[in-house]
Amino acid sequence: MSCPLCHYPKCATLDSRGYHDADVVRRRRECISCGYRFTTYEQVIIRGDIVVSKRDGNREVFKLSKVENSLRMALAKRNVTPERIERIAQAVAETIDFGADGAAGKTARGHYRLVTSAHIGQLVMESLRELDPVAYVRYASIHRRFHCLADYQRLLDTLA
Ligand SMILES: [Zn+2]
Repeated sequence: MSCPLCHYPKCATLDSRGYHDADVVRRRRECISCGYRFTTYEQVIIRGDIVVSKRDGNREVFKLSKVENSLRMALAKRNVTPERIERIAQAVAETIDFGADGAAGKTARGHYRLVTSAHIGQLVMESLRELDPVAYVRYASIHRRFHCLADYQRLLDTLA
């Protein structure tokens, strides 16, 4: 994001928060060069609707903010910038959006694609695996519902 005032190509993020329940994130930014403060609203553009089929059988509309939140939890205190987390979440969303995975469905409003929460979890795990092994194990333990130390051991064996 470049500064609207001096066009310097970099700015710092002071604060970011989700906007209502929508997949819109509001950010306070500050130009690194001239100090100008401004606000941006970001929204990921996704082709058509993506519906997530959850483990319990319920379905819900895909929300980028959910992916971001799960990444934030996994990467808590892991020295990864919020911008990096956003980029990972967006990459996951784009993979879902452009990927061939998931069955196509139809609603009164038009087409939607169905992805499983397991598939989304797998994509998140793949991106964490390279980035930060600790976050990867954290995320996996939640996503795969680890019950005992042997579950961790099996996962750690795959990292060795
Ligand atoms: Zn500036």
